[in-house]
Amino acid sequence: MTDYSNAETLVLHGGQYRSDPSTNSVAVPIYQTTSFQFNNTDHAADLFALKELGNIYTRIMNPTNAVLEERVAALEGGAAAVALSSGSSATTIAIQNLCSAGDNIVSTPHLYGGTWNLFVNTFKQFGIEVRFADPEKPETFGQLTDDKTRAYFGETVPNPKLKVFPIEEVAKIGKELGVPLIMDNTVAPLTCRPIDHGAAIVIHSLTKYIGGHGNSIGGIIVDSGNFDWTANPGRQPLFNEPDPSYHGAVWGQLVPEALGAPIAFAVRARVVLLRDLGSAISPMNSFNFIQGLETLPLRYNAHQKNAKKVANFLVKHKAVQQVIYPSLFEGNDKKTAKKYLKTGYGPIVGMVLRGGAKAGKAFIDNLKMVYHVANIGDVRTLAIHPSSTTHSQLSLQDQFKAGVTPGYIRLCVGIEHVDDITNDIDQALKIADKA
Ligand code: PLP
Repeated sequence: MTDYSNAETLVLHGGQYRSDPSTNSVAVPIYQTTSFQFNNTDHAADLFALKELGNIYTRIMNPTNAVLEERVAALEGGAAAVALSSGSSATTIAIQNLCSAGDNIVSTPHLYGGTWNLFVNTFKQFGIEVRFADPEKPETFGQLTDDKTRAYFGETVPNPKLKVFPIEEVAKIGKELGVPLIMDNTVAPLTCRPIDHGAAIVIHSLTKYIGGHGNSIGGIIVDSGNFDWTANPGRQPLFNEPDPSYHGAVWGQLVPEALGAPIAFAVRARVVLLRDLGSAISPMNSFNFIQGLETLPLRYNAHQKNAKKVANFLVKHKAVQQVIYPSLFEGNDKKTAKKYLKTGYGPIVGMVLRGGAKAGKAFIDNLKMVYHVANIGDVRTLAIHPSSTTHSQLSLQDQFKAGVTPGYIRLCVGIEHVDDITNDIDQALKIADKA
């Protein structure tokens, strides 16, 4: 049931039409089972041959997970989705769905630290090269593309710099070359729909704003259904050559009518990579994410409103040298933020303290309400001093390149009363300023 297009309605009704078809339960049931009884041997054979789509084994598919998948796909304007055990797994599988050893992708240095590590170190072990373009010069994506380039990858609002990725510009370059754009939209659900701007695939760490309550780890891949994997067969061999692991199936030639939409990417990710790599989400965690989704529009707006107020408060604070928040950007950065972020400027605020590293650490150590954690997307306000934690393995020079200065603090503004947030920040800043 995806007839509604308003996000506030989709998060409540997408993926389950009024009630669970087997039990009439209004809340989405947790189907806590590993396997599903086949009706007979023909039914089993049809499911395995993909002549009919249906539940076989929860590693690959599960009715609770399916509601989550349909809901997030509808929210992102996609045709299908595959839920996974973590956001990191969603990034990994989205890229492995296109790349073999010897292939490459083009991304940007402005990435979540875990994705950076995956790209620079672990993918290297798999023989997949990641090249780094400059998102301020979208043409560099095209310049770094060669015959072995299978995808582009970006984050909608990468921290710490919070400069919004030029989705349409990079997607356009990719379309001309047959290269799909994969967007990590973890930080900008609802406010940005990368598929509307030309992205082929969207991934999320469900762990963050979609879950919202900091209680479960999960990820999801959304297939837009609008990328033609067969237009340039040499560009996407995994979708144009027979797959020996699936009776010689050519994934790009799956008949869309049989699947309800051209969702070859999602089907291959599920029946090949989820089957073989096994990073399945648990139905219990899917249930938690479904609960989170139901209030996402309310929560996300509250996060954004508070974040803007916090940013404006910090601008006037004498302990703060610089505030990094898209509403405060100027020139092209502001234009890009306005173009892609429809409902506000996001929930993350960066600030640089005048007192440098010493002040940064003192600020964190003197917070009374705000949590000191390496997470984002919780309903509670979170803070971290990247230079002494998430980025401490990098040289000072590399920290600077990533936008992390010694006095930089990342705040993920929560939905407490904004006065309580600014009061806690203010008292910690006053102590930090004297450190
Ligand atoms: N993408 C972004 C933007 C993130 O911030 C994170 C985690 O912090 C991830 C992906 C990875 O998600 P997970 O922690 O669910 O594996």
